[in-house]
Amino acid sequence: MNNNGYPPFRRFRRLRRTEGLRRMVRETVINPDDFIYPMFITAGTNVRREVPSMPGVFQVSVDQLPREMYELQSLGLSSVLLFGIPDHKDEIGSSGYAENGIIQQAVRAIKEIDDQIVVVTDVCNCEYTSHGHCGIMNGEEILNDETLDLLVKSAISHAAAGADVVAPSDMMDGRVGAIRQGLDQNGFINTPILSYAAKYASAFYGPFRDAAESVPSFGDRRSHQMDPANRREAFLEIEADLDEGADGIIIKPAMTYLDVVSGARERYDVPIAAYNVSGEYAMIKAAARNGWIDEQRVILETMTSIKRAGANLIISYHAKEVAAWLQGQQLSVEAFAD
Ligand SMILES: [Zn+2]
Repeated sequence: MNNNGYPPFRRFRRLRRTEGLRRMVRETVINPDDFIYPMFITAGTNVRREVPSMPGVFQVSVDQLPREMYELQSLGLSSVLLFGIPDHKDEIGSSGYAENGIIQQAVRAIKEIDDQIVVVTDVCNCEYTSHGHCGIMNGEEILNDETLDLLVKSAISHAAAGADVVAPSDMMDGRVGAIRQGLDQNGFINTPILSYAAKYASAFYGPFRDAAESVPSFGDRRSHQMDPANRREAFLEIEADLDEGADGIIIKPAMTYLDVVSGARERYDVPIAAYNVSGEYAMIKAAARNGWIDEQRVILETMTSIKRAGANLIISYHAKEVAAWLQGQQLSVEAFAD
């Protein structure tokens, strides 16, 4: 009688009837604390250079950081992930661990502006090597164990500059243990390691390499980054990093690897970050500019899906605009005004 004579069924629509009801039963809510904002810090002064394939994302020089930090604070964002673009590159990436390197300068500058901002630093060599590879080369091969020493030096120099967290992204085997030991022996027992545990050799990094000026001059990164076809192997990588002392892990990219995020969340009770990478950002921006998608709704849905999959941290170039929307505002800086 209730169902027009059809077999009994359950009325899911009851809880979807009003916005109030939908909010009341919503399982996943994003907020500014979920985000880490990635930044590209470049040598020079007064530099504010938009990355062509990433509209709204800028390479900035250290003197621009007060303005950047003010903007982040006003949006309720409190964590950044720093990538450096040095003015000097060599075979072994020595500017990556120089005391006055670009990242070391940036960390000190941010800490001076506001020491409550959580500064995470990317630890790898590819932004600092003349060949654009992540380690020390022997011909076309990256030498794993020799590269570890450089990563340890970089991590220690970041911690010494005041970094709150170091994030090794190189995917060399054994680097988390090596960095942990190096930090501990140099008095940085309290500096956590957020490791890129499952980083795939992805085509979605294309725009980033423009931004970080880290395109390899030959070859690619498939000898150390993971094969996109592998899921089980990701859990072995994560487990190894945790065994070596990682305090949290990163899965990169995000959107095409949400199954890995979800599987990691079921297995490991540690902080899990997903990196919503440059190609993911660029695709949404391009489609939005063509009027093909509703930009705000697509971005918020994307961020919600990453958190729903199990990431409690989202590293995203969308962080500023998302934070503005969560405050009920449009991001009104010239960055997005075009
Ligand atoms: Zn690298």
